[in-house]
Amino acid sequence: AKRIVTIDGPAGVGKSTMAKQLARELAIPYLDTGAMFRAIAWKLGEGSWEWDEARLDEALASFDFSLSGVGEDSVLALNGVPIGAEIRTEEVGMWASNVATLPVIRSFLKTAQQSLGERFSLVAEGRDMGTVIFPDATHKFFLDATVEERARRRYRQLQEMGKDADLELLKEQIAKRDDQDRNRAVAPLKAADDAVTIDTTTLTIPDVFQALVDGVQR
Ligand code: C5P
Repeated sequence: AKRIVTIDGPAGVGKSTMAKQLARELAIPYLDTGAMFRAIAWKLGEGSWEWDEARLDEALASFDFSLSGVGEDSVLALNGVPIGAEIRTEEVGMWASNVATLPVIRSFLKTAQQSLGERFSLVAEGRDMGTVIFPDATHKFFLDATVEERARRRYRQLQEMGKDADLELLKEQIAKRDDQDRNRAVAPLKAADDAVTIDTTTLTIPDVFQALVDGVQR
C-alpha cells in the first residue's frame, strides 16, 4: 500500500514548506492541492464560480493533472504544463476559495487527488486531506498559527518571490479566506479527529519539521 501523510491547516501556516521538507525526508512526492484549486480558478477566470454546473463540467473535462519528481522537486502539471508562480497571489487564492465551495469542482479534484494517491506515496497538503480525501492516511497533521503570524509568513514568502505585499491587507485577506474555508458546506477546513495538531505560532521551521518527523516515526 502507498504511504500517505496529510498536512492540513489554514492559509499561510507553512503547509507547503513543511510538505516539501517532509517529502524530501521520506523520498516521496508532495502534492500541493491548493495549487490545483488555484490553477482551476486561474484557468476558468474571475466569475467562473457563478457558472452553471453544465458549463463547469464541460470545462473540467479538459483538465488533467499530473505529478512527477520527489521531495521539493515534485512538479504538479495541468495538461502537461507545470503550474507556475502566476497562481501565487492572494487574489487568485480568493478565487480558489470561491471555486472550492462548489461541489462539482471538489468532486472533480477528489477523483484526481485520490488517483494520484493510488499511484504514489504522498505528502498531501491542503484543507481536507485528512478529513475527506485520505481518511485512511498513514499519518495526519493539522498545522495552526495565529492570523497575525500567518500574515507575516505569507508576507515574507511574497517578498522572497519579488512580489509587493501589504501586511495589514494580507491579514484581512487571509482572515476572510479562512472564514470562507471554515464555514463552507462541503469539506470545510478542520482537523481530522485523528490528526495531530501542532500550534506553530512560536515554532521555527526546523522545530515544526522535527515534530513532523517524530510524528511519522511513531
Ligand atoms: O493552500 P492554498 O492557499 O494554495 O489554497 C487555496 C484555496 O484552495 C484555499 O483557500 C481553499 O479554499 C482551497 N483548498 C481547498 N481544499 C484543499 C486545498 C485548497 O478547499 N485541499
